[in-house]
Amino acid sequence: MRIISNIQQMQALAITLKREGKRIAFVPTMGFLHQGHASLLREGRRQGDILVLSIFVNPIQFGINEDLDRYPRDMERDCRIAAECGVDVVFTPDAVGMYPPGFQTGVTVRDISLPLCGASRPGHFDGVATVVTKLFNIVQPDVALFGRKDYQQLAVIRRMVTDLSMPMEIVGMPIVREADGLAMSSRNAYLSEEQRQSALCLHRSIVIARKLFSDGERSADAIKKAVLETIGQESLIMVEYIELRDGNSLEEQEIVDNATLLALAVKTGQTRLIDNTVLGEEL
Ligand code: AMP
Repeated sequence: MRIISNIQQMQALAITLKREGKRIAFVPTMGFLHQGHASLLREGRRQGDILVLSIFVNPIQFGINEDLDRYPRDMERDCRIAAECGVDVVFTPDAVGMYPPGFQTGVTVRDISLPLCGASRPGHFDGVATVVTKLFNIVQPDVALFGRKDYQQLAVIRRMVTDLSMPMEIVGMPIVREADGLAMSSRNAYLSEEQRQSALCLHRSIVIARKLFSDGERSADAIKKAVLETIGQESLIMVEYIELRDGNSLEEQEIVDNATLLALAVKTGQTRLIDNTVLGEEL
C-alpha cells in the first residue's frame, strides 16, 4: 500500500494507471475510519483493479462554528484498516495543496443542496461538491463509492456527475450500523455514554416509521409525528429536522410512497448526528 500526499504525484500515478487500462475505484473520506468506511472499501476492492482511499478533512465544507479543529484523526489506525481492506493507494493531501493562495473556484449544485443539511449548514454542499470535483480530477476514478448514511451528499454528487458529464459511475452503499442500531460515524467518538444511549432514539424512530409505513400509513404528518414523539422522549436530544422527501429530487412529500426518504438530524451536546431510511425499501 502506497501513501501519497502530493497532488501532482497522485494525479500522475492515476494517469499512468489509466493508460495501462486499469479501472480505478475510489472512496473519498475524512478519515477516522470505521466499518461504514470499510464496507465502501471492500466493495471498491471488488469493483476496481486499483483501489484508492482519500483521507482529507475538507475545511471548506465546515461552517465557522463547526468541528473542523476537533474532528477526530488517527492516521496510523486508518492505514491499518485500509491495508486490511486491500487499499492500494491512500491519498492524503493537505489543505494548502488543495486550496493554494488565490483559490477562487467552486462547484454549486443548486436546488438539491438547499433543504435538509443544506439549510442547517449553509455552503456545506458547495464545499463537498468542490472538493469531490477536485478529488475526481486528481484520482480519475472509473467508479466512486459513497455511503447512504449521507443521503443528501450522495444525491448531490449523483446530480453533479450527471450535470457535468463526469465520466464515472457512482455507487451508493447501505448504512452500516452498530449492533444496537446507531449508524456508524466518526463523530460518534464525541459522544458520552449517556449521549450515545440517547442517540439510539434515531434508529428506534426509524424502525417505528418503517413499521407504520409497512402497516399502510401514507401520511407524512402522521409518520413525522410518531418520529418526533419517539425522539422527543430523550431530553439530551435536540431535533434539527425530521423530514419526508422524495428520495430522488428531495422535494417535500405529504403523501409518502415506497421511494420516500425519511431524513433525521439532531444534536446532542455539541455533536450533530444524522440518520435516514427510504420507506418501503428493503434493508
Ligand atoms: P466521512 O469520512 O464521514 O466523510 O465519510 C466518508 C464516506 O463514508 C461517505 O461516503 C459516507 O457516506 C460513508 N459513510 C460514513 N458512515 C457510514 C455508515 N455508517 N455506513 C455507510 N457509509 C458510511
